Amino acid sequence: MNFVFPAPPTPSVEIAGADERFPVRRIYCIGRNYLAHIRELGNDERKPPFFFQKPADALLPSGGEFPYPSKSDNVHFEMELVVAIGKSGKNIAVEDALDHVYGYSLGIDMTRRDLQSKAKDEGKPWEAAKAFDHSAPIGAIRPASEIGHPGAGRIWLAVNGEIRQDSDIDLQIWNVQEGISHLSKLYEIMPGDLIYTGTPDGVGAIIRGDVMTGGIDGIGEIKITVV
Ligand code: MN
Repeated sequence: MNFVFPAPPTPSVEIAGADERFPVRRIYCIGRNYLAHIRELGNDERKPPFFFQKPADALLPSGGEFPYPSKSDNVHFEMELVVAIGKSGKNIAVEDALDHVYGYSLGIDMTRRDLQSKAKDEGKPWEAAKAFDHSAPIGAIRPASEIGHPGAGRIWLAVNGEIRQDSDIDLQIWNVQEGISHLSKLYEIMPGDLIYTGTPDGVGAIIRGDVMTGGIDGIGEIKITVV
């Protein structure tokens, strides 16, 4: 294949303890998947969770620097369990959904909250609020073949060592199986897809110089510096 300029590299994520990397196709995100977070933002808690996307090249590996984005004065962290898909499928039944999981990681759904609020008010798309460059920090993936399928476990995020989010992944409205099943009715999921599965309560703003650390029990930890 001849291209008019070099093709961009395939985005990928480290796999803990392995030389191979996980090649990324798409990043799906679930919105409003923990009741306490729906309440803290004043959203309608009777509406079901939903999906949006980030571009695959928005990934930022743990240990990296998050450049404070332009056009916002209110950039928030959202700590999330991330599911890495290893097998394609559509219209997947809840009871079959875990067969499609390669492994798990943890990520931070960085959000220009001011632009998101404006988009909501004006009925406009969320891309500029959610899908900007470097908006998807992510830790190493742990294969399900090693750690199984954690249905519960502490999820936390600290800023400069101070705990800001502290919850449990068992409080998700749609658990991993249900999230995959719903998503696969809208899109054919493929190996390389990542699903950021929503954030618990405690989200808040960061400023330049802040260090975000976070973790999920049994999966790993992440560290990102805001520059
Ligand atoms: Mn989120």
